[in-house]
Amino acid sequence: MKKPLIIPFFIPHAGCPFTCVFCNQWKISGQEESIKPEEIDRYVEAYLQKSSSWSERYCEIAFYGGSFTALPLDVQIGFLEAAAEQKKKGRIKGIRLSTRPDFIDRQILDRLMSYGVTTVELGVQSLVDEVLTKSCRGHSVADTDRALKLLRDYPFQVGYQLMLGLPGDSFVFARLTAERTVAAQPDVVRIYPTLVLKGTELARWYDEGKYTPWSLQNAVEMAAYWLGVFSLYQIPVIRLGLHASENLSLEKDLVAGPYHPAFGELVESRLMLEQIKQGLAKLGIKAGIGEELTLSFSPRDYSKVVGQKRSNLLFLQEKYHFREIKLNPEQDIAENDLEISTTLQTLRMKRQDFLENYRIK
Ligand code: SF4
Repeated sequence: MKKPLIIPFFIPHAGCPFTCVFCNQWKISGQEESIKPEEIDRYVEAYLQKSSSWSERYCEIAFYGGSFTALPLDVQIGFLEAAAEQKKKGRIKGIRLSTRPDFIDRQILDRLMSYGVTTVELGVQSLVDEVLTKSCRGHSVADTDRALKLLRDYPFQVGYQLMLGLPGDSFVFARLTAERTVAAQPDVVRIYPTLVLKGTELARWYDEGKYTPWSLQNAVEMAAYWLGVFSLYQIPVIRLGLHASENLSLEKDLVAGPYHPAFGELVESRLMLEQIKQGLAKLGIKAGIGEELTLSFSPRDYSKVVGQKRSNLLFLQEKYHFREIKLNPEQDIAENDLEISTTLQTLRMKRQDFLENYRIK
């Protein structure tokens, strides 16, 4: 099946009454011209023209940025009407939007239904109240639970947007958030590490020494844990890290934090490294001095196995002292499965079996 085609619209929330410490909507809204509903038709047409295969793909409009259902009603309706019009014209099949968990009620959901919205993504961020409070998020875990319960009375696909490393967050709390996400069973999740952006409260706290962002290593480690857990429980992770943009650099909007333009790849290769380590443990290999290691895998997993700048291979070499590590991409190995061979033994490892390590007890 071809990848869905998402036509994104960024709607900065200029009038947002909330003060989430990590958000720079105010700054963005002061700089970027938001699209107007009357411009959507032309924009969608131009977007689709760029993709020759759009008629064979599932196309949807996505309203990202602020908290859609907290926008003034006339603004919401303007965008919803424009999106519904695109559906009527047969250009798109879905309408996706993101909003706050405390701006969900039956009246709001009835309205979204009537305009043909198909996916509602909740800015959940954390499922620990202490983290939400310290981040001045203005809603609680109970609000998210209540929103989800209401959403489940409708045919919407539900997404959870989760953040790692917010003020007050820890590995223990992040694990709890994963556990509670699994219990909630959203249809998809997005995972974002917390970055310190210019113009935010968090940037002030960072300058005053009141907030320390997570290191890239910690953010990757916990995101890989989340990816393992969500994969086991069949909750698709549709985004890992912010999209690389030229604004996300230290010269522009980024002040500090675990930013990497290929954050998702780092996370995927970290999970693969855990899988290799577990395979070696199963083979009883602690320090393979003199051993030769052959890793066989799907050709599509080459970069996951090798790691960014060969980091996985370097780690294995340093920890196990292999005489040689041979890489063997093989067409008949399924994606994420592995075959690990040393001179004397071979282990076939299915990703699904490895993921059992992430089962929540
Ligand atoms: S994250 Fe959303 S709710 Fe919070 S300040 Fe930004 S736009 Fe407002």
